[in-house]
Amino acid sequence: MQHFPIFMDLAGHRVVLAGGSDAALAKLRLLLKTEARLTVLAADPAPEIVRWAAEGRLRLVRRGVEPGDALCAALFYAATDDDAEDARAARLARADGALVNMVDNLAGSQFITPAIVDRDPVTVAIGTEGAAPVLARTIKRELEERLSPALGTLARIGKGFRHAAERLPFGRARRDFWADYYDRAGPRALADGGEPALMPALDRLLEDHLGRTDAPGHVVFVGAGPGDPDLLTMKARKALDTADVVIHDRLVTPQILELARREALILDVGKEGFGPHTEQGDINALIVAHVRAGQQVVRLKSGDPTIFGRLDEEIEAMEGAGLDWSIVPGITAASASVAAIGQSLTRRGRNGSVRLLTGHDMKGFADHDWAQLARPGEVAAIYMGKRAARFLQGRLLMHGADPATPVTVVENASRADERRIATTLGLLEPTLTEANLGGPALVLYGLAPRRAAEMSIPLQEAL
Ligand code: SAH
Repeated sequence: MQHFPIFMDLAGHRVVLAGGSDAALAKLRLLLKTEARLTVLAADPAPEIVRWAAEGRLRLVRRGVEPGDALCAALFYAATDDDAEDARAARLARADGALVNMVDNLAGSQFITPAIVDRDPVTVAIGTEGAAPVLARTIKRELEERLSPALGTLARIGKGFRHAAERLPFGRARRDFWADYYDRAGPRALADGGEPALMPALDRLLEDHLGRTDAPGHVVFVGAGPGDPDLLTMKARKALDTADVVIHDRLVTPQILELARREALILDVGKEGFGPHTEQGDINALIVAHVRAGQQVVRLKSGDPTIFGRLDEEIEAMEGAGLDWSIVPGITAASASVAAIGQSLTRRGRNGSVRLLTGHDMKGFADHDWAQLARPGEVAAIYMGKRAARFLQGRLLMHGADPATPVTVVENASRADERRIATTLGLLEPTLTEANLGGPALVLYGLAPRRAAEMSIPLQEAL
């Protein structure tokens, strides 16, 4: 981010603009929305500018820029429609100590003016650092359509009520009140009785909310998917939007945590295969404590929370404490991994069932029905299988599996650093060790990538 967006208080401050034709007019239409003291320097000003000057909305000086014109100015715009003159004006203004914008000249500008969606006091500023003005216009159009013209009125009246609303306890109660006002009570009152109906509606709404007993806390066990934020469900996004607390595992990516409500408390209780971790009992206690305190807790687990997520232990802790919970499913690593290699987990005539296995459990390497799995056509998605590869390979070969059975390992499925390694059961080790996997990896037993393009490491190289 080269340009940092801020909102600047211009009320009563001096803003100077050099120029009197099209570029100047475009900027002035925006600047006239502010409470700045505007001065325009133009030898030959357009009629609108003359009119605005006559109406007292700006001060007009009929000449070009001279040294000292921008003294004490907060902002200076060079908008003369003449590059050389803009450069001269900008130089003088900078010498006077003003922040300078040169119209259509990013390199010569110390600040840029964003595209604006104006629902004063709600203002949306859109900037692309000059990279894609067309995109900025498209986003502006979409927002103009989406944000009701009444939003400004709602926000202006709402602002005057903020103090009164402090009678509600800080946090969720107050948030719910405002959400109710903006989503429902406000627009309805405005439609029924216009602006005068808003204050009485706010009073009624406040009484209503003050009368409510404290809403109980709640935990939702949310699947964060395999890592790509685009693979979150809408429900997961909504839960993150309203969370007071987010308790997440190690595999949940920073891009997904970014989506949590800005004020939310984010707690990492990451567990790594054999490495350091927060005890399950401590995690359960942490969730219970926050829900008891009346908070909306999101327990964020990678993939789908119902798959190798120790979900039941956490649910039992909630039930034991008599607390409320729900589940939002997510896309599991197996789904993301088969998608990455263009395959299906099940296929007519090949396998009518698929197994989700774990490479290790709490006691060590996990045992399974190897004889069943060793039969031709079987497919299994093996979670937490990195360190168990040699064990899996040994067990399956011992039970008669064909060493040529395809095996594909997908590391960091759905993420920017995704890797796919195609091999066979006979070569699974040493292939896996040599691949030096750093991220989470899923072993797809019985599946090869459908096309060479779906492999990030060529077969020969992996071998
Ligand atoms: N609940 C999760 C699984 C948790 S167990 C789910 O449904 O996906 C953790 C294991 O999941 C890891 O050891 C790895 O085998 C697998 N895994 C999780 N995210 C992955 C990813 N992005 N790519 C490959 N494997 C992943």
